[in-house]
Amino acid sequence: MAAALVFRLHDRGPEVVREVLLERGWEEYDQEEQEEEDWNLYWRGSTFRNSEYHNLLPWQRLNHHPKTAGITRKDYLARNLRRMRATFGSSLYDFSPTAFILPNDYTRFLPEYNKLRLTKGPSVYWICKPVDLSRGRGIFIFEDIKDLVYDCPVIVQRYICNPLLISGYKFDLRIYACVKSFHPLTVYIHQEGLVRFATEKYNLSSLHNLYAHLTNTSINKFGPFYKTEKERVGQGCKWTMSKFRHFLHSQDINELLLWQRISNIVTLTLLTIASSVPSCPNCVELFGFDILIDVKFKPWLLEVNYSPALTLDCQADITVKKGLISDLIDLMNYTLIDSLREKAYQRQGYKQPCFDANHPSKLKETKFQKQRSGSQSSQILPLIKTHHQPKKMSLRRSRQHAFVAEYQRHLPPVDLNKIYATSSRIVNTTVNKTRTNKTLNMILGPHSRTNVSVVNRQTCPAPAPWLTDKRSLHVSEVTNHDNTETEAEIELSGETDVSSLIQDIPVNGVGLRCPAVSCKLPNIYSGNHRPVRMERSTALNGQHIPPLRVGDFIRTFPFNAATLRASQHELDVKTVIQELHKLTAQLATMGRKLKRKQAEIGGEEDFDSLLWGPKDPPLLSQCFKPT
Ligand code: ADP
Repeated sequence: MAAALVFRLHDRGPEVVREVLLERGWEEYDQEEQEEEDWNLYWRGSTFRNSEYHNLLPWQRLNHHPKTAGITRKDYLARNLRRMRATFGSSLYDFSPTAFILPNDYTRFLPEYNKLRLTKGPSVYWICKPVDLSRGRGIFIFEDIKDLVYDCPVIVQRYICNPLLISGYKFDLRIYACVKSFHPLTVYIHQEGLVRFATEKYNLSSLHNLYAHLTNTSINKFGPFYKTEKERVGQGCKWTMSKFRHFLHSQDINELLLWQRISNIVTLTLLTIASSVPSCPNCVELFGFDILIDVKFKPWLLEVNYSPALTLDCQADITVKKGLISDLIDLMNYTLIDSLREKAYQRQGYKQPCFDANHPSKLKETKFQKQRSGSQSSQILPLIKTHHQPKKMSLRRSRQHAFVAEYQRHLPPVDLNKIYATSSRIVNTTVNKTRTNKTLNMILGPHSRTNVSVVNRQTCPAPAPWLTDKRSLHVSEVTNHDNTETEAEIELSGETDVSSLIQDIPVNGVGLRCPAVSCKLPNIYSGNHRPVRMERSTALNGQHIPPLRVGDFIRTFPFNAATLRASQHELDVKTVIQELHKLTAQLATMGRKLKRKQAEIGGEEDFDSLLWGPKDPPLLSQCFKPT
């Protein structure tokens, strides 16, 4: 009988992760009771140390990839986007407001400020944010440079002063993107997300009123109008994304292009760091992308959160975050093999990490994977640093390593039938298929929305990550993690009917109104009664294609055969960008009407991708004919 999967939570949080995992039959790691290595998932809000990546064991996974501060720290993000803009053009990387990192960029900021003041008059606004704070702390908006006062590194950004409003209230979108892997780049965006409202009406003549200008929950929940029933917005300050989409439909707005632009923002932002993140197949990461939509329906990236808040402040939080975490666990695709840690100890007396943290392999993943797929454990042994060790230790390590090698040989990708066969080899016991199904259901849990019969591990955890860059991660990377909000009382938000017209939405000239034929109104689900779907992963010309969707996670990258190829080895950013261009152009010209019929596709184009955004997403191939 397989043991339960074990999770470790740093600093006892977040509660929703604990809740979801316990419901799925996982156990919480107990330092007193368990071996140090006896866990399958370590979840923490802050960064992991380099050594923690180096010492990962085959069954262990972490909820952060190494070295992602390049997008999650405000100043690094601004610098990286500037670099990409210089390389790939400002028309593509035009989704982030112009930003200056002060004090360093002051001499660049001043002429820009003066130029805009001359050409546009005083109606240009700026927002100043400390680079290493989150949750709205230390932020202020100014019009006149004499009000720019700071005593720590900040970024000064053009303030988007024409946001789309709902009944006069500003809002932004929290989009959850999961990077399943950076090598090859594999990205999923969750269909659900949050819409976060300011709690006082937007007014440019009161720049100091943060309740009108900032949409952070951590600020607005202390505002005087948080609990008030606000026109159309309702109580509190959050909607689910489904409710927002319902609202867009009620406005007869063609949302497809909007969602595609947001998906592009996520991909283009990740491309800025994708090549520099070390490969760590045992890691997965959930990023929170904050997107502001302006009155012309242009989405703007405000920031990327390293540890998006998982506190449950209201009903919208509960609906979105529980489903999100559940889908994330499904996406991680734990199988029977992962639960065999304990068995492994019993059989091998295994106690120490198998890879030497001082010996990060310079091997590329492909070479390593070749080794892993070989059946001889000796193929992996050279990775162990044994020459400085006493003979006894070296022998023990070799034995341990032989075990790990054996374990690796049995790692999936496997489907259910293969899991059956594999588990019987490892556990060395006769199991019948019914029992395997039962065990799998235990692993996936009663609330998993994943259909176990089609589970395939898409990126199997590697035996241990090896980092190509030894610089330390831990100390300097202060990033945007807004996960430290205190638990507030759970409050049911009044779900209001949003089907009536809202005057803030411009009717003409924005190019996003639906023509006569609009898309089918999506199903808006409630609570746990959500459709469960996990597609079988496939291969194209020998290249593994990750599943299209896992629960409500939709694969947004790679999205066609060309981007699959471009991301297999060295990431070919140029090709990816060309494909993004093509896709967006096709969507823009598709007559704003889904051609719900299978396009003529052949050979290599046999690659399915869903259109992220719609609740029942059609395949891209059903939207238009590939060129
Ligand atoms: P934090 O990490 O402190 O939350 P953000 O960059 O997310 O910092 O900014 C906080 C809030 O301020 C956002 O949610 C948004 O409402 C508002 N905001 C930030 N930048 C801009 C901008 N350039 N234009 C308009 N509003 C902005």
